[in-house]
Amino acid sequence: MKQSFVIVGLGRFGGSICRTLVESGQEVLAIDSSEDRVNEYMNIATHAVVANAQDEMTLRSLGIRNFDHVIIAIGEDIQASILVTLMVKEMGVPNILAKAQNEYHARVLEKIGADRVVHPERDMGYRIAHNLVSRNILDYLELSDEFSLAEVIVTNKKFYGKTLQELDFRQRFGLNVVAIRRGNQEPIVAPQAEEIVQQNDHLVVIGRDEDVDYLDEKMN
Ligand code: ADP
Repeated sequence: MKQSFVIVGLGRFGGSICRTLVESGQEVLAIDSSEDRVNEYMNIATHAVVANAQDEMTLRSLGIRNFDHVIIAIGEDIQASILVTLMVKEMGVPNILAKAQNEYHARVLEKIGADRVVHPERDMGYRIAHNLVSRNILDYLELSDEFSLAEVIVTNKKFYGKTLQELDFRQRFGLNVVAIRRGNQEPIVAPQAEEIVQQNDHLVVIGRDEDVDYLDEKMN
């Protein structure tokens, strides 16, 4: 379904979102106060305009209230990011996603009504760090402060040849196995309790961070 998006700020983050949304057929209005940035996206975005998003009259004249989503991808200017989020919220836009620079910024954005707050640098940092320190965790995605989704390789003999039921993931580890990737086969999504775990299977699990870490330790 085609949806309409406004992106405020065409830095690396906003720019990358803009390209991807347009490639997937969405309508994108891109706004940046820098003429150079807007020129760069003139032929990429559906519409691109040079404007200071902190100016409420400008936002109104661009009809921001009629869009399905607004993405506030302003980089360092935290004050501008907060002000624009607040104004867009007051206009009644249904889905507001804002990029935070730090924890305090994130808390303010959440308080004033951003529906989603992302910290791309921090999140990527977590993923890379987990990947560096663990040979068994291939990928790591934070779902919230407490929960993650992780892809763990089975390298402990005790797991081989046993069914998910026998291994009792939910009781023993507090984890749900949501998929199994095995070699080049199609992933087994939502595996049955009878599914037999094999050496080097990649288990995609969801659970608390400490439970994911515990499973990782068990593989060593
Ligand atoms: P990134 O980390 O995503 O590369 P940048 O700081 O480079 O972030 O990019 C942020 C973009 O947001 C810049 O292109 C900047 O011109 C734009 N920007 C900042 N403040 C405003 C504003 N008030 N109105 C419109 N665009 C803005």
